[in-house]
Amino acid sequence: MNSKVALVTGGSRGVGAATALRLARDGFDVAVTYVQGKEAAEEVVRRVEALGRRGLAVRADSADAGEAADAVSLTTERLGRHGRLDVLVNNAGIGVLGPLESLTLADVDRVLAVNVRGVFLVSQAAAPVMDAGSRIVTIGTCMTKYVPGPGGTLYAMSKSALIGLTKALARELGARGITANIVHPGPIDTDMNPADGPYASGQAEMTALGRFGTADEVARTVAYLAGPAAAYVTGAELAVDGGHAA
Ligand code: NDP
Repeated sequence: MNSKVALVTGGSRGVGAATALRLARDGFDVAVTYVQGKEAAEEVVRRVEALGRRGLAVRADSADAGEAADAVSLTTERLGRHGRLDVLVNNAGIGVLGPLESLTLADVDRVLAVNVRGVFLVSQAAAPVMDAGSRIVTIGTCMTKYVPGPGGTLYAMSKSALIGLTKALARELGARGITANIVHPGPIDTDMNPADGPYASGQAEMTALGRFGTADEVARTVAYLAGPAAAYVTGAELAVDGGHAA
């Protein structure tokens, strides 16, 4: 019952699922949120439990203000030591790409609700139940550093807001010993961006290493930021992008 507790939003698949498992290997009890993938989220919980930790799957749409904040209280109620949270990973995100003129008002509202407002609200709910040593890690994108072509206006805009949020969180929560950092993945082989998809080769060529990354390669950096080695790292942007921005 003395394990540290982490909440990973969007942890049923991809980078979030890999992060949940990496944190479980590092000794955390882990809650994951999902919207569609109940079975997948429950499978992540089973794998967390197989690593000897406690797991929890919470259906919580980051676009829903109430659900986003409730995910924190459910996590601390079910897994938390004295209602505390040690690590928040703001991973849930959606990509809506397309020419500027094709993006609808509904697209804009949905992307900002999930990628920006949801991250703000979960962070706002988490901060009061965090203590010195707690960590907030947010997932951005390499497209905040270098946009390789057209179609990324809405997505890049939404993710760029998270840089400002992260730096401001670092300043605001630093006095309490809480760190906030952002990780910028390059092209990562997940359902969102499969390495065998129609645009895959172009993306791989944009990196210095000439390949997609894996979800676990991102998860390892998140786990570093969540762990003791990163105690003095805050307000930082870490690229895990195979040299996409090089
Ligand atoms: P996936 O689409 O593979 O997985 C997304 C995860 O987020 C799923 O667990 C999904 O749950 C969950 N999710 C989606 N919408 C919501 C929502 N509204 N509320 C809560 N959870 C939600 O994405 P990736 O793993 O590829 O991406 C993870 C993060 O990394 C995202 O923020 C993405 O923008 C970012 N990123 C990804 C890159 C890539 O190349 N893959 C590159 C750069 C950044 P459900 O099972 O319910 O669908």
